[in-house]
Amino acid sequence: MNKEVKHNIRTPKRTPITDDYEITKQVLGLGINGKVVECYNRNSKEKYALKILVDSVKARREVDLHWRASGCRHIVNVIDVYENKYNSSTCLLVVMECMEGGELFQRIQDRPDGAFTEREAAQVMHEICIAVKYLHDNNIAHRDLKPENLLYSKKGTYGVLKLTDFGFAKETLIKDTLQTPSPEVLGPEKYDKSCDIWSLGVIMYIFNHGLAISPGMKNRIRMGQYTFPNPEWQNVSQDAKDLINGMLNIDPAKRFTIDQVMSNRWIAQYTAVPQTPLHTNKMLKEGVEMWPEVQEEMTRSLATMRVDYDQVQIKTLENSNNPLLNKRRKKSANPVKA
Ligand code: ADP
Repeated sequence: MNKEVKHNIRTPKRTPITDDYEITKQVLGLGINGKVVECYNRNSKEKYALKILVDSVKARREVDLHWRASGCRHIVNVIDVYENKYNSSTCLLVVMECMEGGELFQRIQDRPDGAFTEREAAQVMHEICIAVKYLHDNNIAHRDLKPENLLYSKKGTYGVLKLTDFGFAKETLIKDTLQTPSPEVLGPEKYDKSCDIWSLGVIMYIFNHGLAISPGMKNRIRMGQYTFPNPEWQNVSQDAKDLINGMLNIDPAKRFTIDQVMSNRWIAQYTAVPQTPLHTNKMLKEGVEMWPEVQEEMTRSLATMRVDYDQVQIKTLENSNNPLLNKRRKKSANPVKA
């Protein structure tokens, strides 16, 4: 480990979790790697969410990075971690704050008053950006930033939006200084972080374009050929469109960094963004049956993007003299403006 960077080395407790928490059978959600159930602190009687993972290198990485990311208002906080034997296998038991307000887009869809405005979209984007900045500043790329992983802490206006699920998170710090690329070269650090920026761009795009993003649109976003068709985008500010262009740039080297995103006026001055009604609500309602497909597509795209950086470099070399690709690159450098 790089000596200049000091992490709080945290080790899981070996004492039985049941000494401190009462574990219920109430399932909050099922993940690929394990289930999440409700539990109660025996002293405070407060409710928490407990994620149960069978011990493995991957599970250790998830828990370590999630723990390190705790402390940000817009990231689901890890309270305690236990390492206990359960049915003769070692398990990691992660006690987290319990998110009772549901997923981001579900909440927008459930709004009784209808219109979601451009200013509200900017506020939500600002909150997600705070989480991403916290991670990137701490040398962590989330790499699975998608709507299902953005949960509200509570129902109602006091709920806070938080990012969760560190199953694909990666430490981005380059440990071997000989491998550190010069600033103008796309190194693995910028590459891994650029996946999160792409996700921010897609989420922001969905705010307005809703589920019309599916099915043909999805490939076009991946290729950088998304557009801002009217009437949905007619009244949306140019700042918002410029920001989306910067975040969805197909070239990860040219894609905005989190600092560039946050210094964009639309995010930095989100309280001054016009209160233009967006089509989010209508789009989500009309396209409700398309939602699983949109989610799957985002999951698939993220999986593709997580390919090893080495493979990307080989591809880049192979493609550097490909005239078709160069043409496409040129096009994406000057995206269509509505
Ligand atoms: P996986 O990484 O295996 O997909 P997740 O961490 O996404 O698992 O959790 C699976 C599901 O459990 C989520 O979709 C969500 O419904 C629920 N869940 C996860 N964390 C919490 C939490 N802190 N509070 C409430 N529900 C949660």
